[in-house]
Amino acid sequence: MIEKIKMTTPLVEMDGDEMTRILWKMIKDELILPFVDLKTEYYDLGIQKRDETRDQITVDAAEATKRLGVAVKCATITPNAKRMDEYHLHEMWRSPNGTIRSILDGTVFRTPITIDSIKPVVKNWEQPITIARHAYGDVYKSVEIRNEVPGTAKLVFDGEDGSHEEVVINQMKGAGVLQGMHNTDKSIRSFAHSCFKFAIDTHKDLWFSTKDTISKKYDGQFRKIFEEVYEEYKDQMEKLGITYFYTLIDDAVARVVRSKGGYIWACKNYDGDVMSDMVSTAFGSLAMMTSVLVSPDGKYEFEAAHGTVTRHYYKYLNGEETSTNPIATIFAWSGALRKRGEMDGIEGLQKFADALEGACFDTLNAGIATKDLVNLMEGIEPKQVTSAQFIAAIRGNLEKRLA
Ligand code: NAP
Ligand code: MG
Repeated sequence: MIEKIKMTTPLVEMDGDEMTRILWKMIKDELILPFVDLKTEYYDLGIQKRDETRDQITVDAAEATKRLGVAVKCATITPNAKRMDEYHLHEMWRSPNGTIRSILDGTVFRTPITIDSIKPVVKNWEQPITIARHAYGDVYKSVEIRNEVPGTAKLVFDGEDGSHEEVVINQMKGAGVLQGMHNTDKSIRSFAHSCFKFAIDTHKDLWFSTKDTISKKYDGQFRKIFEEVYEEYKDQMEKLGITYFYTLIDDAVARVVRSKGGYIWACKNYDGDVMSDMVSTAFGSLAMMTSVLVSPDGKYEFEAAHGTVTRHYYKYLNGEETSTNPIATIFAWSGALRKRGEMDGIEGLQKFADALEGACFDTLNAGIATKDLVNLMEGIEPKQVTSAQFIAAIRGNLEKRLA
């Protein structure tokens, strides 16, 4: 019997919904609790509990993350009309991720988990590419007008100090479309801090791209703020041998495709939306994508990028064994435990996180895999297993690594 690793500060544990809630319990029972004297502050973000507490539980979980510094979150249902009926909800509660993100004011970093037998579509990508998407403003908080007749379109600003600024957007000679969007220095600055913190954390170069040659004031402000914030982190980055690199978005796209990978690519909201889908698809599988929310003051929330895998859950409810991939959820746990270990100076916890991830790689490299990965694997003979068998195989490898 190995002695369990002790923790000092609890993790914020956010349970979730459907198939991932099933995996959550399996992961804890098989891969965490036998080895770690786990301390968590538990918040049930399952849809029923959110409904019962009028979503207060989500706010409490986010506040706990502010207080304790590290959280691990299971995927959760974002209600829509269909879910309202399915779960007899009182209201169409907001996306928990949206609520947590607005309380922590964080940036989401998505990184693929790569293995030798799954080749990215871009064959020169040797290392994962992390996308950091600014999740505030721009076209996502824009207002629009459809003008049916000719007229003057203007952009107007009335300052609280009585100042007034007005520019003509266009003399519309006929029907057309108009859009007004904004961002704030505060949000851009928070984004920049999160990006530099995460680069230092993961020892990776940071790239940032906008279109400031065309958008001199709007995108120009993004570039300027990043340069200012960089000054605060410059020494630390130089010591680590990592760099900050700014380039135009079109140049960045070309460089990314030609690169070997291995860096963080910070994107404005729309660019991040589009590029994260491109990068994740090119790396293989949504089930192999991790996601971490980093706040500008250094609080962390780890999760998988995928959802609750509803289709598999309905099969599970029918008594069928599923072959749902738990890797991204396991890496959410290892990421959170490692970070807790770093913050509390518990080396054993950090080593355990490494061993747990190592055991996942040992299993995958032996060709033992869930259904989603089997068709993607090259150069080995994959063996398809159920989620339970897959987790059992990981446990076997974990025990070997810890022996
Ligand atoms: P999803 O849960 O990510 O699943 C979409 C499909 O991707 C699945 O049907 C499955 O394909 C495949 N997939 C995703 N994760 C997988 C895994 N771990 N192992 C194997 N296959 C996997 O997305 P969704 O069906 O659009 O959304 C379901 C629910 O999740 C929704 O209620 C949504 O609100 C929520 N959601 C939550 C989060 C979050 O909490 N972060 C994120 C996204 C969505 P096959 O069916 O073809 O096998
Ligand atoms: Mg998208």
